[in-house]
Amino acid sequence: MDYRDSTEQQAWRGEVRAFLEAEAPGEYRVMRRPAVDSYGRGDELFQTWRNRVARRGWLASHWPKEYGGAGMSVMEQFVLKEEFALSGCAHPGGRGVEMVGPTIILHATDEQRDELLPPILSGEHIYCQGFSEPGAGSDLAAVQLRAVRDGDEYVLNGQKIWTSNALSCNWIFLLARTDPDAPKHKGISYFVMPMDVPGVTVRPIIDMVGGNELCETFYEDVRVPASYRIGEENRGWYIAMTTLDFERSGIAGAVALQQRMIRLAPTLKGRLTDERRALFADLYLSSEVARQMAYHVASLQDRGQVPNYEASMVKLFSSELTRRFDTAMVSFFGLQGQLYAGSNGYDVDEGRVARALSGSIPTTIAGGTSEVQRGIIAGRGLGLPRG
Ligand SMILES: Cc1cc2nc3c(=O)[nH]c(=O)nc-3n(C[C@H](O)[C@H](O)[C@H](O)COP(=O)(O)OP(=O)(O)OC[C@H]3O[C@@H](n4cnc5c(N)ncnc54)[C@H](O)[C@@H]3O)c2cc1C
Repeated sequence: MDYRDSTEQQAWRGEVRAFLEAEAPGEYRVMRRPAVDSYGRGDELFQTWRNRVARRGWLASHWPKEYGGAGMSVMEQFVLKEEFALSGCAHPGGRGVEMVGPTIILHATDEQRDELLPPILSGEHIYCQGFSEPGAGSDLAAVQLRAVRDGDEYVLNGQKIWTSNALSCNWIFLLARTDPDAPKHKGISYFVMPMDVPGVTVRPIIDMVGGNELCETFYEDVRVPASYRIGEENRGWYIAMTTLDFERSGIAGAVALQQRMIRLAPTLKGRLTDERRALFADLYLSSEVARQMAYHVASLQDRGQVPNYEASMVKLFSSELTRRFDTAMVSFFGLQGQLYAGSNGYDVDEGRVARALSGSIPTTIAGGTSEVQRGIIAGRGLGLPRG
């Protein structure tokens, strides 16, 4: 592929940069997540940032214009994300904009779109994702939460787990079993619903650093209007698996990691033995590989192809690299590297080094574990036989 921008891409990049220069002063430029959740709400600064991006019309960059999106091409989205990441600004889309919105656009009825899309854009509906269950993670099609039709409603009973940000979200999209007798992929339906209804209980799972982002959610005779089922009954698996025509290269993550390396490099002065210097160089070169992989995926999409095992390669390589980098940083900085922010100034990079390591471990699990990605690459990419 040709890595240089076309004339139009160059002009578009300039437009995005001009926006960032005008609207994103210093305090917005550290890849930061709001204190409450990373998906639309949160602290005041993030909310202001979200409003600025929304006012510019770039919040839902990939949604068609008729639904309030920007209708950007794959390459325009790619450049937007790359520039946001280079500037250190987070794109404030979140699960509503990134995941459930496109699903509604593609599979819902006009009435559902009219009701459910505007509150996503306005930030009124903040979604969490209710897919995983205690017995259904990598094997997601094994979901057992039951939804039984009763007139104009479904009655839900069961449990979800690892529901990120459930405490601070007010809507959820979830998969439920509507036909227990059908083959497992064929008896699942896709629902959206508010969280503040009778019968829903949210229980945080306190993680090893005291965070309560991950939750269990319980459903006891919860009544959900049938109009909140997206798509046909028992077709939920296929709806959940829909691959949409939007940018999925992982460019933002690759650039953010590289930016972090650049920011930390001066702090490492005096701490680097030859061996560590070589390791840092290796990690930096690997981050460039991750970036090139992202370019490759975007170029496939730009040519109308659907990335398959290539997306797994990006996920696997980037998450494992992030983990390697964060492990190395904590060991480079020794005890100081393990301190969180507010440790009398002894913490490194405002405690980000320590936080980054505890945050990077789950990235090799969430959204499909490294083992599962390796399986996809082996089977679909290399054509290796199973078992
Ligand atoms: C930080 C974080 C946030 C998350 N957020 C959400 C969320 O918001 N909503 C949601 O629904 N879920 C969420 N998840 C759940 C996540 O999708 C699952 O943890 C993940 O899919 C793995 O499922 P599991 O935990 O049940 O592990 P399992 O599937 O039980 O896997 C256990 C081990 O077996 C291995 N394994 C399983 N199957 C295979 C296979 N076929 N080949 C080789 N090895 C295999 C796995 O790699 C793993 O090491 C989150 C997880 C994390 C860590």
